[in-house]
Amino acid sequence: MKDAEPCPCGTGLPLTACCGRYHDGEPAPTPEALMRSRYSAFALGLNDYLLESWAPETRPTALPDDDPTQWVHLEILDHGEDGDTGRVHFRATFREGRRWGALEERSRFRREAGRWVYVDGEPSVTRLKPGRNDPCPCGSGKKGKACCVRG
Ligand SMILES: [Zn+2]
Ligand SMILES: [Zn+2]
Repeated sequence: MKDAEPCPCGTGLPLTACCGRYHDGEPAPTPEALMRSRYSAFALGLNDYLLESWAPETRPTALPDDDPTQWVHLEILDHGEDGDTGRVHFRATFREGRRWGALEERSRFRREAGRWVYVDGEPSVTRLKPGRNDPCPCGSGKKGKACCVRG
């Protein structure tokens, strides 16, 4: 992995200057930063980080090592914090082969010993049927046929 690789969360910053710092152990300063770093960890397959940043009572025992889902785009719709609780409303676009979908969730976070952790949320998944002439669902701003939507 090159240092200049853009962060999957879409800030336009290099991974090492964005979510990579939190993956390397620096505490995420806000629920939104933690949410972004968890999205990036899903995109990069950093299962250890995902489990570490999950509240113990809702944490799964394991995550699949070979998840075929590719996460392609993140939008933060709303976020906020109140003391040691936080919330983030986001929409994440993914593809599994030629199938596309969007996961929208209002997530809850909690700060424990100075570190934000993901508690739970109410996810809803919508199937997307991107057209070749529609804007690409990856958020590139190009038409689908000139980007990820081929064939
Ligand atoms: Zn990032
Ligand atoms: Zn695309």
